[in-house]
Amino acid sequence: MKLSIIVPCYNEELALPFFFEETEKVIQSMDVEREYIFVNDGSTDKTLEVLKSLNSAQPNIVHYVDFSRNFGKEAALYAGLVYSSGDLITVMDADLQDPPELLPEMYNLIMNESFDCVGTRRADRSGEPAIRSFFANQFYKLINKISQTEMVNGARDFRLMTRQMVDSILKLSEYNRFSKGLFSWVGFKTTYLSYENKERVAGETSWSFWSLFKYSIEGIINFSNAPLLISAWMGVVSFVISIIMMIFIIVRTIIFGNETSGWTSMLAIILLIGGIQLLGIGILGQYVGKIYLEVKKRPIYLIREIDKEKGHELW
Ligand code: UDP
Ligand code: MG
Repeated sequence: MKLSIIVPCYNEELALPFFFEETEKVIQSMDVEREYIFVNDGSTDKTLEVLKSLNSAQPNIVHYVDFSRNFGKEAALYAGLVYSSGDLITVMDADLQDPPELLPEMYNLIMNESFDCVGTRRADRSGEPAIRSFFANQFYKLINKISQTEMVNGARDFRLMTRQMVDSILKLSEYNRFSKGLFSWVGFKTTYLSYENKERVAGETSWSFWSLFKYSIEGIINFSNAPLLISAWMGVVSFVISIIMMIFIIVRTIIFGNETSGWTSMLAIILLIGGIQLLGIGILGQYVGKIYLEVKKRPIYLIREIDKEKGHELW
C-alpha cells in the first residue's frame, strides 16, 4: 500500500518544517509506503527553498511541484492529485490544522470498513469570529436547499481517498473548481470524522472575509441553477403585477377620467422594474462568465518546475 500525501502550500515557509515532522511521526507508525507531493502555489516567501531541501534529503519520498504563479488552492489540489501515484491519497493543509493523528483511524476505516473516502469535519466552529460562523452556517443551509449536491457543514478538504475515487475526480477537469462540491458530486461511500478545531501552527491564513464570501458565491453558481430560476420568477411576478395594474388603471380612467397624478408612484415602479432587470442580467452574467472561462479551456495550472524523481516517473 502506498499513501500519497498532497499538500498545497502558499507562503508556508514557517509551517512546513512542523508539518513535515509531525506527519512523518504519524505515517512512519503506519504500515504503508509514503510519498509527499507539495504543490508550491506561487509563494512569495522561501517555501520553494524549504521544499527543495526536504526533497534533497529524501528524494524518493518528498516531491514538489512548483507553479508559475498563484493559481489558488483548488488548482494546487488538482495538480497534486494528477501527480500522485499512491493507492490511497490524502490532501492536507500545510499549517497542521488538519491533524495527521487522524490518519491511522481514517486508514482503518477504508481498509476494514470498505469506505472509499473518509473526510473530516470540525466538531464546532469555536475559535472563529461569530460573524464568520453565522455566514458559514447560512451558506450551508442555503446551498443544501438549492443544490442537488450535498455539502457537509464544517467539512474540511482534509480527506483520505482511494485511487478509484481520485481517478473519478480527475475526470472532472472543469476550470471553475469548487472542491467541496466536486468531492461530494463523484459519490462513493464516504464517512466523516469530527475533531476539535485547531489553530494554525505558524504563518497566516490567506482567507479574508471577502474572499470567503466570493468563494461561497462561487460554490452556489457552480453547483446550482437556483439563482437563474429566482430571476426568472421575479420576471414572472413583476409581469403579472403589471398586468393587474394596467387593468386597474384602464378601468379607473374609464370611470373617473384622466387626471395627471401618480407620477411619483410611476417613477417608483419604473425604478423597481429597472432594478429587477439589472439584477436578472447580473445573475445571468455570473453564469455566462463561468461559461466564458470554461470554453476558453485554459489549463487549470502551469508548472515552472517539478523535482527530478517525479519528473522521471512521468517520462
Ligand atoms: N493555499 C494555497 N493557495 C492559496 C491559498 C492557500 O495552496 O492561494 C494553501 C495553504 O498553503 C494551506 C491551505 O491552502 O496549506 C489552506 O490555507 P489557509 O490555512 O490559509 O486557509 P484556512 O485554514 O484559514 O481556511
Ligand atoms: Mg489553515
